[in-house]
Amino acid sequence: MTTSSLPLDFSLEELWMPFTANRAFKRAPRLLASAAGMHYRDVEGRTILDGTAGLWCVNAGHCRPAVVQAIQQSAATLDFAPGFQMGHPASFALAQQLAALAPGDLDHVFFANSGSEAVDSALKIALAYHQARGEPRRVRFVGRLRGYHGVGFGGISVGGIDINKKAFAAQLLPQVDHLPHTHDLAHNAFTRGQPGWGAHLADALEEIVAARGADTIAAVIVEPVAGSTGVLVPPKGYLERLRALCTKHSILLIFDEVITGFGRLGAAFGASYFGVQPDMMTVAKGITNGAVPMGAVIVRGAIYDSVVNAAAESGIEFFHGYTYSGHPLASAAGLATLALYQSEGLFQRAAALAPFWEEAVHSLKDVSKVVDVRNLGLVAGIELEPRAGAPGARGVETLQGCFRNGLLVRVTGDIIALSPSLIIERAHIEELVDILRGVLQRLP
Ligand code: PLP
Repeated sequence: MTTSSLPLDFSLEELWMPFTANRAFKRAPRLLASAAGMHYRDVEGRTILDGTAGLWCVNAGHCRPAVVQAIQQSAATLDFAPGFQMGHPASFALAQQLAALAPGDLDHVFFANSGSEAVDSALKIALAYHQARGEPRRVRFVGRLRGYHGVGFGGISVGGIDINKKAFAAQLLPQVDHLPHTHDLAHNAFTRGQPGWGAHLADALEEIVAARGADTIAAVIVEPVAGSTGVLVPPKGYLERLRALCTKHSILLIFDEVITGFGRLGAAFGASYFGVQPDMMTVAKGITNGAVPMGAVIVRGAIYDSVVNAAAESGIEFFHGYTYSGHPLASAAGLATLALYQSEGLFQRAAALAPFWEEAVHSLKDVSKVVDVRNLGLVAGIELEPRAGAPGARGVETLQGCFRNGLLVRVTGDIIALSPSLIIERAHIEELVDILRGVLQRLP
């Protein structure tokens, strides 16, 4: 039994918290009570600057009235509509707008409720696509080390994080290979923007093709910028090379844009930012400004055509979907969110602010224990030297110290990830960096 020192009128014991050190948290909880714009307020009434847009999702800032009202209105008029053999206008309207926002011919949308579901849906779509085209042997997936694609069995299988698989290793997808990751401090430490070294790492796909046969590989899935394992910015030319190799071998390329979507890099999607066209994108988080759970797979018209339009007209074409696919509240939140992104020019705002952000985060370069600072758009990773014999300890202490000092950051091991809402002001950026610097300087 764990107890908190806060005077609370509820128990902390019963909730099994996700991706959390439950016992440590319950001894010293960090409880958020409300949010507005760039800030949270905790249950003790302290104001906390949100350096992470919640969990990379509140791209337009917290509790925006337009989004709140859209959700309220939907809840009062259409609380739920079945998505199987039934529809409702908002989900079609949102799909249309997402298709318009997505680059090139990524013009059909399959809704899910989270990034994890979007990823597993995309993997299934890849299999269905090859089967529909008469290539049923293409069943293998290629992920990348240090990739994060959520927590479904598909997602952890293609993901490249050992600790997330350890307990489940006996039942992972059986036919998966991994590309090497692109993180290399020896070559790329303190790079501003995309590193110059590492494009050749994409060529590892050729080795996998040689070993397995191109005609057995369904899809490659990567995050354009790997977020969860500590902001790994792709080397210049890397994504282009991956695209060329996938095209050469007729392998589908899936960009997992759960973090990079909706303006995070200063463009609608990572694909738009890098000018590299995937065959599918998985999105979530910023699609509704984090206000209602939603995920989606955005696919090229040719994929929809193969699986749906080319099928015999004898009923359901794709045996997959969720009770809450395209939920009315999520669809309403998504429409209001996209309207905000547009009316406030938030993607352009992020692009315009990126140089100031870059300058500010790189000012942490000389703080002792900082071994790398990296950035792109409104994202940054600050990597710390692990304490001898206690890897991860400095990361946890940074999270705790920042929170005590009124700043929310995200840590993964000894890497601090920053991803503020796109409405952040310069003064907030200065405050964020000042608090973080103070905490890092005091770390043992
Ligand atoms: N894919 C990527 C790239 C992510 O960053 C995440 C979550 O951070 C996911 C998938 C999983 O999303 P969710 O937690 O909504 O299932």
